[in-house]
Amino acid sequence: MVRFVPFLLAAAWLASHGADAFAPAASSSQVRASSSSSSFPVVVGYGIATARTSPLSAMLVEKELPEKIYPPEEKESPKVLGGLKIGTRKLTVITGASSGLGLNCAVALAKTGRHFVVMACRDVEKGKRVAKEMGMPDNSYTVMKLELGSLQSVRDFVFNLKAFKSIRPVQNLICNAAVYRPTDPEPAWTDDGFEASMGINHFGHFLLVNLLVDDMAKAKDARICIVGSITGNTNTVGGGLVYPQADLGNLEGFEKGATKPIAMADGKPFFGAKAYKDSKVCNMMTVSELHRRYHASTGISFSSMYPGCIAETALFREKRPWFRKVFPWFMKYVTGGYVGMEEAGQRLAQVVDDPQCAKSDVYWSWNGGAQQVGRWSPDGKPRGAGGSGGEIFENQQSDAVRDREKAKKMWELSVKACRMTEKDLPKAAVSP
Ligand code: NDP
Repeated sequence: MVRFVPFLLAAAWLASHGADAFAPAASSSQVRASSSSSSFPVVVGYGIATARTSPLSAMLVEKELPEKIYPPEEKESPKVLGGLKIGTRKLTVITGASSGLGLNCAVALAKTGRHFVVMACRDVEKGKRVAKEMGMPDNSYTVMKLELGSLQSVRDFVFNLKAFKSIRPVQNLICNAAVYRPTDPEPAWTDDGFEASMGINHFGHFLLVNLLVDDMAKAKDARICIVGSITGNTNTVGGGLVYPQADLGNLEGFEKGATKPIAMADGKPFFGAKAYKDSKVCNMMTVSELHRRYHASTGISFSSMYPGCIAETALFREKRPWFRKVFPWFMKYVTGGYVGMEEAGQRLAQVVDDPQCAKSDVYWSWNGGAQQVGRWSPDGKPRGAGGSGGEIFENQQSDAVRDREKAKKMWELSVKACRMTEKDLPKAAVSP
């Protein structure tokens, strides 16, 4: 039995404060940093740094930063199928398919021969490059521009996707892309003024899903999966023990519009690690709310999943090099929660491909789903901590995720924040 509570507490500290304890690591995100009275953002290519300056020059610099994450010149023209034949394959859209879990899921699905994959990526060239590197068959995918930090880009993506696929409905939508910015001392903002983690992970996907429900209702056995996390589930080791906990409060920040200078869902001061966790709770609440509103009328299955701790993905890009070395080791040998990228990709692929995952309103997990610390079984592999191996099962969501009233409120305030109109809302609604 592995019961290394001190190690776990150390992990908690590592996870939430690891990099903070040292000089801040440079972020590689394309999202603009905020400016405060004492620091201003210096945009260097895709990198962001902060430098000390006076309030006056900070204001001047801010004015010089009209930069958009999704400038008009990045708008893609609609693609046409050209010589591509999708045939009887299912049309499957994956956001954030240029890295980690999303990329490995795209590879797994494309290689089954049963799916034609639309890789929805913020960096199209990167998407094309990694698809080739991973050996995805040429006629098994296409890469399309989707910048989730811009609601306009979400709308443009949907327009282009519809032009590309014509009347064939989207069969599967996997909302996988995310950013995690635990070391940012100040919030970064999306083009619409949302704090970056909430804007990209939740609001961008929220609009995307809503714009595609009616189309997907035309497909048989359509599925929408929004990738969740134990960090948004307080009834798990990772979500309950590791500080800070996800907590949307009474959605005071959402009530105020969730835009700059409001950085957090609960309206409290910015806290990067918590902002990510809050966004993951919103992802999982969105699934429950989608199920309540649209499952009966559309037949679409809505689900969430926890892939395991894929400790080597770029999600941890903000962490210092030593942390990125120690963390996978720790998750592998101490908590037993580690899973490799390929296996994690297969898990996500299973949720949309396996007939046994057709059920709606499920939070899928494997190998115990990190409800506890791993127990070492006779075959030398840890069992029950969500790591490699084990069977798929229907995991229980935390009370926070199951809070129906809050989910309803979160939904309604998200509709407002995304400035959605009647026209954007799926027609197939059932009164929640
Ligand atoms: P990665 O950083 O490897 O992948 C994230 C993907 O999201 C990348 O393709 C990235 O694009 C894309 N992305 C980031 N910002 C945007 C944006 N603004 N618009 C469009 N796409 C964007 O992380 P993971 O593979 O680890 O994470 C995938 C999912 O798994 C996330 O939802 C995460 O919360 C979840 N998860 C991960 C766990 C882990 O241990 N790693 C554990 C539990 C859940 P680009 O390639 O250009 O950077």
